[in-house]
Amino acid sequence: MFSAVGAPREFSSISLGPSAPAIAYCRTHRAVFLAELKDFIRFPSVSAQPEHADDVKGCAAWLAEHSRRIGMERVTVVPTGGHPIVYAECCHTPGRPTVLIYGHYDVQPAEPLDEWQSPPFEPMVRGNDLYGRGASDDKGQLFAHMKALEAFLQTGGELPVNVKCLFEGEEEIGSPNLTAFLRRDRHALAADVAVLSDMPCWRQIGRPSPNRCGGRLVSNWKSAPLTGTSIPVSMAESSTTRCRSFAKSLPRYTIELGG
Ligand SMILES: [Zn+2]
Repeated sequence: MFSAVGAPREFSSISLGPSAPAIAYCRTHRAVFLAELKDFIRFPSVSAQPEHADDVKGCAAWLAEHSRRIGMERVTVVPTGGHPIVYAECCHTPGRPTVLIYGHYDVQPAEPLDEWQSPPFEPMVRGNDLYGRGASDDKGQLFAHMKALEAFLQTGGELPVNVKCLFEGEEEIGSPNLTAFLRRDRHALAADVAVLSDMPCWRQIGRPSPNRCGGRLVSNWKSAPLTGTSIPVSMAESSTTRCRSFAKSLPRYTIELGG
């Protein structure tokens, strides 16, 4: 667990180790992953609408149970003054960097309903895309990270880094309780790098996705694309703001990937 608050650690490179079994696992479980993502999207976890408070709570419980099932540890549904935060970790590689994965499981209201081609909480595949409220903000991106963790954990491989996951249920209403949580548990949450799953994942037809993994590194108060591909400033703006807010809340850290 990260402990030296205020004393940045530096890593010149990180070896991912053998990932072929994990990649093969993802390929053979594609249909299962899709069915699970649909289950996740079926929760109308609309944080802004009080009538959906129990749905938000149910979605948090589902996410926590799913985290346990894929092999994550210390899984906790943390109550807040509003909607709960889901925490999970897998920290078994002392001396390796610790990565904090952030995502949110709440969604925007679905109204106006008559503009949907299919019901917002009945996810539907059309062509190569999955349609449903939250599919691209942020349940799909969050889930991509979880499935990557599952692929490593379920194929006997160790995670190449220590991982902590923080999934909030209030992003769409301005995260009113997140900062207090970060401050209160800053030592337990401390990490060398934060990966934000709440990123654009749209692609234009005929063009590669600007951010295939839906993640972004926060490094020493600045943000840098995880994949090395560039992200248009306008698309990255909100996430950059969130990166900075994380950087202010968490201890400072320094990390370089890939030398
Ligand atoms: Zn979002």
